[in-house]
Amino acid sequence: MGEKELNLDELEDVKFQIEKGAFKPKTLTCSKCNKKMKEAEIEVDLDGGVNIRLAGFECSKCKKRYLGLEEARKMDKALIVSRIMRNEFKMERSLSFDGDNFTFRVPKEFTYDVKKRKVEVMPLGAKQFCATIE
Ligand SMILES: [Zn+2]
Repeated sequence: MGEKELNLDELEDVKFQIEKGAFKPKTLTCSKCNKKMKEAEIEVDLDGGVNIRLAGFECSKCKKRYLGLEEARKMDKALIVSRIMRNEFKMERSLSFDGDNFTFRVPKEFTYDVKKRKVEVMPLGAKQFCATIE
């Protein structure tokens, strides 16, 4: 109960579960075996040359692996970056320049559940950036 399965499409052999409400858990108990889980460093290779290390937990009996919410979020971000590296979901937009800033339009299909009209922009390189709509 209170667990949410993390969707990992392209990682068939890696299965995590997220402990809900536990942002940074110190200890975890396996819900299946009722055994205290060991802290484990989980290394995940994503396509596109992205490699991520996560601080998770592993059950010594059933080998089930858990992630705290903070680590699960890192995982989510790494998946996004790996998609960028593979150039998936590409689209072309024209840039306008208003004298100070460049602007481009984002189709509404690319956004989900947008409440505020605010965007967080993170530079990835001279001509690359990652935008997150709040
Ligand atoms: Zn177990």
